[in-house]
Amino acid sequence: MARFIFITGGVVSSLGKGLASAALGALLQARGFSVRLRKLDPYLNVDPGTMSPFEHGEVFVTDDGAETDLDLGHYERFTGVHARATDSVSSGRIYSTVLEKERRGDYLGKTIQVIPHVTNEIKDFIAIGEDEVDFMLCEIGGTVGDIEGLPFFEAIRQFSHDKPRGQCLFMHLTLLPYLSASGELKTKPTQHSVKELQSIGIAPDILVCRSEHPIPEKEREKIALFCNVRKEHVVPAYDLKSIYEAPLAYHRQGLDQAVLDAFGISPAPRPNLARWEDVMDRLTNADGEVRVAIVGKYTQLEDAYKSIAEALTHGGMANRVRVKAEWIDAEIFEREDPAPHLEPYHAILVPGGFGERGTEGKIKAAQFAREHEIPYLGICLGMQMAVIEAARNVAGLTTAGSEEFDHEAGKKRFEPVVYHLKEWVQGNHKVERRASDDKGGTMRLGAYDAALTAGSRVAQIYGATAIEERHRHRYEVDIKYRDALEQEGLCFSGMSPDGKLPEIVEWSDHPWFIGVQFHPELKSKPFEPHPLFADFIRAAVETSRLV
Ligand code: GLN
Repeated sequence: MARFIFITGGVVSSLGKGLASAALGALLQARGFSVRLRKLDPYLNVDPGTMSPFEHGEVFVTDDGAETDLDLGHYERFTGVHARATDSVSSGRIYSTVLEKERRGDYLGKTIQVIPHVTNEIKDFIAIGEDEVDFMLCEIGGTVGDIEGLPFFEAIRQFSHDKPRGQCLFMHLTLLPYLSASGELKTKPTQHSVKELQSIGIAPDILVCRSEHPIPEKEREKIALFCNVRKEHVVPAYDLKSIYEAPLAYHRQGLDQAVLDAFGISPAPRPNLARWEDVMDRLTNADGEVRVAIVGKYTQLEDAYKSIAEALTHGGMANRVRVKAEWIDAEIFEREDPAPHLEPYHAILVPGGFGERGTEGKIKAAQFAREHEIPYLGICLGMQMAVIEAARNVAGLTTAGSEEFDHEAGKKRFEPVVYHLKEWVQGNHKVERRASDDKGGTMRLGAYDAALTAGSRVAQIYGATAIEERHRHRYEVDIKYRDALEQEGLCFSGMSPDGKLPEIVEWSDHPWFIGVQFHPELKSKPFEPHPLFADFIRAAVETSRLV
């Protein structure tokens, strides 16, 4: 049966709980344990699928088709363990389940209350699959003291009480602010935050203290004394140059040792950190730099394309170069010539996106990449735009466009080269989309197989002709146009196994131009860069040598 580690945060938000959880997961793996990481989010949205990327950052999609919090992306990148739908839950989901049960009469007429009905639902969620791993790490979103978070804190308190002693551990992240006037780190906010936790009945076993300055020994002792934790269990967390330093940095500060101590696991298995040492070696000993332009819509918030930014970094690590990714607002190209904006880059990436705004600019970016032989990677909407560009400017279908934009505008303006798919096959099942489906439920979501054409560039890159990648979209390129486009050299080199849905297109006479209907960035890891990103950056390195 698993041991449980609950990760909470206090003082301020954005302390890096997700990263600390992911790094701890990686360190436990390095000591030979199996782990699973979970995120419990207090917001009332049922899932992040319909939340704006401006507000919430990227939606991370799991193999089994759940739209989840971007922290699950960190978890996967650090542990390589594929997240599942049951690894992410929000208050909204919990409440909607409770209310459904109430409507069905499952509670036999009882009065439904936060305790025990909501807390029971949360506890059941935490326990899913508890026999499968050595450690289950559950991160609670938000900060202790938030009204929304209370049922989660109450649930983890009860959970640890229900379990035999020593099977659950509480790790709390806080901040030690630095007052430059007095030249001191202040521990009071941490003390208050721990008090807040204690008032709910939770006594933290480990405190992870974020600080911009070294934490003196006597401050550590003070925190230990006032917060009722052992001094060795007060773990400093300093700012890092790269998130991938986190496992080694936390190990140096003794986090994994503290966790094993707290569980009484002795002797602790020795860690094998070779994977992370190699990652750091590739990051720090990179030679040269390539510049990649990301032409998209959600350019103000970096988190909106979190996995893409990380996958590009991984691609750089595979080639031992630094990748400088810069975001360019696609709408600029609707007013201005893209050439002066794009010429400084060695490669162009057009990411996924929804809605018409900026799409004409993305089409211009694809055209620029095709005509100037600049490596181009189009992801999801970025592939659709590349196909529309080819249809309009090469195959002579001047009115080519996507039904998505016609739906939005409420009139028919385009020849639907990209159309709204209503039914498809997943594995052995037929999936249908109905007009009555709610917004969250109408996408082709999660892992799907694709068959690659032998001898194609993508088959070479993957070193395989059968792949599986994650999807999140409503629209598809119509195979009706395949012949016309292939005649011009745009090969449909990846298809769904039934041959109906284009998964990958590539220009055969271009140095590197690939569009994919899926999201390869979701499966890239620092210790296992995604082959498409690794090869995309390799091609960018080649371009950089030409100029
Ligand atoms: N908006 C497009 C679709 O729904 C692309 C989605 C995406 O890029 N994730 O098909």
